[in-house]
Amino acid sequence: MRRVDANVYMRCSPFFVYEKRGFLFFTRHVDRFCWEVDALIQLQQLHKSYQVQGKTIPALLGIDLSIDKGEIYGIIGHSGAGKSTLIRCINLLERPTSGQVVVDGVDLTKLDDSKLQEKRRQIGMIFQHFNLLSSATVGENVAFPLKLANRSKAEIQKRVDELLKLVGLEAHRDKYPSQLSGGQKQRVGIARALANDPKVLLCDEATSALDPQTTNSILALLLDINRKLGLTIVLITHEMHVIRSICDRVGVIDGGKIVESGEVLDVFLKPQHPTTQEFVEQVADSSELREAVAHEKAAGNRTIARVTFLGEKTYQPILFQTMQETGTVFSILQGTISRMKDTPYGQLVVELEGDVRQNEKTIETLRQRGLEVEVI
Ligand code: ADP
Repeated sequence: MRRVDANVYMRCSPFFVYEKRGFLFFTRHVDRFCWEVDALIQLQQLHKSYQVQGKTIPALLGIDLSIDKGEIYGIIGHSGAGKSTLIRCINLLERPTSGQVVVDGVDLTKLDDSKLQEKRRQIGMIFQHFNLLSSATVGENVAFPLKLANRSKAEIQKRVDELLKLVGLEAHRDKYPSQLSGGQKQRVGIARALANDPKVLLCDEATSALDPQTTNSILALLLDINRKLGLTIVLITHEMHVIRSICDRVGVIDGGKIVESGEVLDVFLKPQHPTTQEFVEQVADSSELREAVAHEKAAGNRTIARVTFLGEKTYQPILFQTMQETGTVFSILQGTISRMKDTPYGQLVVELEGDVRQNEKTIETLRQRGLEVEVI
């Protein structure tokens, strides 16, 4: 069980309305509260090392991770950090050297081969290079796991139809993988992974071989499936864009350890660990900002602040109104308006040209009005 903070969306007396993953809930309780959610996957003190020519190569060094039912959890890390090893330990494609892998209440490391085989049907997986059977058609690729599960011909036919519709490939049923684009191949991979109604979908760098536009369409499909089917998704990636687009929570892996984790919004807006900061820079374009800040600082004793807007506040003229009210002249050095999954956010780096006291007052007022302000 994990305790989660809820964000109160509005007060609608005598109830409070709060939002969690796109759904609205009502409660009579106070303004900020917690509730408990079930973990679907729990990794406890997971260690994995490889033996190569008498040498021990450590890959995972005591991973503790808890992933909730219905969430999209992203694991980001550089090459060699341990991402593939970690995701492959979740379905025991790699057997950990020690530690527990609990999926839906069952420790997979304790199962014999036949029980493990059965349990693996609950865990679908897609891969960077799709891993399709090249001599089988799209329909046959999707039917493959259903045949392995001894489903009847009629059942297989019906299920393949449903899955191809879900991934938008009805018209390509009789084509071979070589006749498909990369994005279409990954859609076949997704349909095949969902064939046996898994509880979890593992995505091993699923968009890394795709161009940016196709990546976005595959991410949109994963999000759609997560919402329609309530499917838990665990993905690994080296791209912050992927995390920002669809994940609820993220873990940053470095040298076989999770060095930072949390809600994507929190980790993205306030990265603590140097590795996380590097990943955030991938999408933040901070180099230009650093130049601008250095230039302005060199020009005198100026106040430079990063102002962050979240949710509805992103579209309200709070900054402009406050500056007008306090009579502060300001200039914008850098600005972004974007979206993290469903949450719009904006970040402006501004230079305040008032005296120190006036600037402090302006910053205080902005904070009181719900903006986050960090003096750089
Ligand atoms: P990532 O997916 O983040 O690139 P990996 O999990 O593939 O990282 O690798 C983590 C570490 O384990 C690396 O040092 C890598 O060289 C090593 N490693 C991974 N797979 C094997 C293997 N089959 N045999 C030996 N060493 C491996």
